[in-house]
Amino acid sequence: MALSKKQLETLKDMIYAERERIMNGFDDISAEKYHLNNDDRLDEVDQATSDYERSQMLRFRNRDLFYLKKLDKALGKMEDNEYGICEDCDSDIKFERLRARPTAQLCISCKDEAERVEQGNFIARQSKSLGKNVDLTQA
Ligand SMILES: [Zn+2]
Repeated sequence: MALSKKQLETLKDMIYAERERIMNGFDDISAEKYHLNNDDRLDEVDQATSDYERSQMLRFRNRDLFYLKKLDKALGKMEDNEYGICEDCDSDIKFERLRARPTAQLCISCKDEAERVEQGNFIARQSKSLGKNVDLTQA
């Protein structure tokens, strides 16, 4: 693995800090908002607002949970000495990239490639739905 022990420690600290930040966010949600709403008598407008807020919160929560899983996965990889290795081409992911995104699973060139493919699929789908027979990915 290309990462030094010190670099690995830095990234590990970042991941733990991120986990803690998310966990604390969960506490805020359950302690303040939910509790408050349960005790209050709400008229219909308030009820609708609180339903909306709840759905918004759940959406954030799902996003956080997804992120949390990625953080846990990164920690697991660290234990298995697989952290910082591209899942696609097995080459080392640069420390600078990991510092910007500790949950990165692909090296920058594989990531670029994946995004290009995604973009290409999107364009192909779009032109299909417009009834045009043009394959923009070949252009
Ligand atoms: Zn790669």
